[in-house]
Amino acid sequence: MIVSRLTCRALTSHLCAGRGRLRVEMTRPSSDLAEFRKIFAKAQHIAIITGSGVSAESGVPTFRGEGGYWRKWQAQDLATPSAFSRSPSLVWEFYHYRREVMLSKKPNAAHIAIAECETRLSKQGRSVVVITQNIDELHRRAGSKNVLELHGSLFKTRCTMCGNVAVNTKSPICPALEGKGAPDPKAEDARISVENLPRCEQSGCNGLLRPNVVWFGETLDSDVLTAAEKELDMCDLCLVVGTSSIVYPAGMFAPQVAARGVPVAEFNMEDTPATMSFRFHFAGQCGSTLPPALERHETETI
Ligand SMILES: [Zn+2]
Repeated sequence: MIVSRLTCRALTSHLCAGRGRLRVEMTRPSSDLAEFRKIFAKAQHIAIITGSGVSAESGVPTFRGEGGYWRKWQAQDLATPSAFSRSPSLVWEFYHYRREVMLSKKPNAAHIAIAECETRLSKQGRSVVVITQNIDELHRRAGSKNVLELHGSLFKTRCTMCGNVAVNTKSPICPALEGKGAPDPKAEDARISVENLPRCEQSGCNGLLRPNVVWFGETLDSDVLTAAEKELDMCDLCLVVGTSSIVYPAGMFAPQVAARGVPVAEFNMEDTPATMSFRFHFAGQCGSTLPPALERHETETI
């Protein structure tokens, strides 16, 4: 019985991903928190896939979708290798602005619930890993240690000459960008010469730095991807938080975990076609739904 249900769930997920019109009607996933908590209490390895919804609840702009503009552009216009080679100054202004914005943003209740859960469970010999597409480091700032950043980080740079990746939290990242990056559509481009943009500090290099984020059209870091796949193969509970389960990365990972028979719980504002392939769905702001789901269970003795 269980096997046939799981197979059917996997099939639904597959059909939804491939051809929506072939969708099979399924029972709705459960929103029974007590039932989720029973599974949570027994889980040894929990994988938590997070996306932009978690950051949005901290007021982090994504520059995507309706109204999501920096000057007259959206992220997909500037977060590309071709935009950077055409105008490194403009792209650096955009990222400088995004870095500076983060100084005023704080982890929210969802980030904190995840981080506290990791700290607590690690003392019990259990593991929690965050697999995120967010580049704002709010999970780390909340205290999460085991974080895989699929799309890199706003606060790391990579040298275009020697390839060195370095943590960089300077504000501003270089003197020429001070006061630049205003998002107003009428703001003038700073047109900073490449010599005055962030440069590599490795001895004898001085190459132009770029943000160490994965841009549109680029492939993911294979080491990070391999680590994420290993965690997803090992997990016995998977949470999908603040991301649509039809788009990457949850669209790629979570249905694969569900097909293996592992419970997947989605914490999202709304349903997605993949929702029906999951065991649980908790609708609403994840800052409200996640803390009671991850708080200490009565069976936890440490
Ligand atoms: Zn270098």
